[in-house]
Amino acid sequence: MSPWMNDELAIYRETVVRFVESEMVPHDARWREQHNVGAEIWRRAGELGLLCADIPSEYGGAGGDFRHEVILYEELGRRGLSGFGQGVHSIAAHYLLNHGTDEQKRRYLPRLASGELIGAIGMTEPGAGSDLQGIRTRAERHGAHYVINGSKIFITNGYLAGLVMLVVKTDTTLGAKGTSILLVETHDLPGYRVGRFLDKVGQRAQDTTELFFEDVRVPAECLLGATEGKGFAQLMSDLPYERMIVAVQAMAAMEGGLDETVRYVKGRKAFGKTLLEFQNARFRLAEAATIVRVARTFIDRCIQDVVDGKLDAATASMAKWWSTDMQQQVLDECVQLHGGYGYMNEYLVARLYADARVTRIYGGTNEIMKELIARSL
Ligand SMILES: Cc1cc2nc3c(=O)[nH]c(=O)nc-3n(C[C@H](O)[C@H](O)[C@H](O)COP(=O)(O)OP(=O)(O)OC[C@H]3O[C@@H](n4cnc5c(N)ncnc54)[C@H](O)[C@@H]3O)c2cc1C
Repeated sequence: MSPWMNDELAIYRETVVRFVESEMVPHDARWREQHNVGAEIWRRAGELGLLCADIPSEYGGAGGDFRHEVILYEELGRRGLSGFGQGVHSIAAHYLLNHGTDEQKRRYLPRLASGELIGAIGMTEPGAGSDLQGIRTRAERHGAHYVINGSKIFITNGYLAGLVMLVVKTDTTLGAKGTSILLVETHDLPGYRVGRFLDKVGQRAQDTTELFFEDVRVPAECLLGATEGKGFAQLMSDLPYERMIVAVQAMAAMEGGLDETVRYVKGRKAFGKTLLEFQNARFRLAEAATIVRVARTFIDRCIQDVVDGKLDAATASMAKWWSTDMQQQVLDECVQLHGGYGYMNEYLVARLYADARVTRIYGGTNEIMKELIARSL
């Protein structure tokens, strides 16, 4: 058991497991087919107090800490429930909590916590991913409004999102200092359009889409923190939290895949014995279990550091790149030990494997993580 767990969190985990098993697992195949989980399950999660678990109760959150969030990531991640974009939703809530005005927090956080609004983060554009300075989506001030023109790509929760934290240029003559974040409420917003579901290799239940903005007018009060030019600093300060979410999800997927594979090799027979009786299978599992244990020890330490407010950016980058690289390595072994069944989507390890490929790419690519770590040395 992780050292950060305690009795209260164990009871919380039971609630999460019950919810995930009874209200999510039975629908996952349909969600994968329709490429989104639907709005209803978000409201249900909100009703149970599982959204914005680490947001203070004065803003409608559950008043817990990062460990509560982690428990939901773990229980989703172990089961390959990658459609429910809770990570991005939580990151959106944290932008508000850490950088929003009091009025912005009171206006949006309770609705994010109830699941009435689903959060998304609109940074990436066709011409700007790792290099965010290259974004072109423009927000021009016209009196009491901003007028937005541009587009975003690869946006998690894009179809269901009711609130987009939209990264825009408010001054094209300045670099990072011309970047701001706008809180864009999407419901019935003229000029706002969601593109098709992007056809992804994995994470098939996740509604990843393009977003288009054509002369979209939003009130000037939508500027996060009410000061222009702060967007980059706001994005940077929340990165360790975001990277830990990806790392925790990777950890949970590895654990779920390994457990499933141990079960499988104990039951499957070839040449008159179980797969576990072949030394190769035992060695492969021993290696995977060692990686998973080492990763768990490091990630547990990082989780505690987030709770204590002392996780630095370089350590979070280490957690992100290493755990996602290991995720892919471990799940590849899990597929191999399943033989042909490991390649069939009805098997958990196949879905975990396909879902894993992107974790080395999003949340900042693993190459960018290494750049950041190297700079800290
Ligand atoms: C499923 C999915 C969900 C996503 N969700 C979101 C979301 O919710 N919101 C959002 O804004 N974005 C999202 N993204 C976008 C994601 O963050 C970007 O894809 C990622 O940052 C990489 O940007 P890019 O795709 O433009 O690749 P590029 O930046 O073009 O990178 C291509 C390759 O070049 C390498 N590279 C680039 N620069 C350097 C460098 N300086 N040094 C070394 N190597 C470098 C990269 O590591 C990579 O291997 C998502 C992407 C996917 C696939």
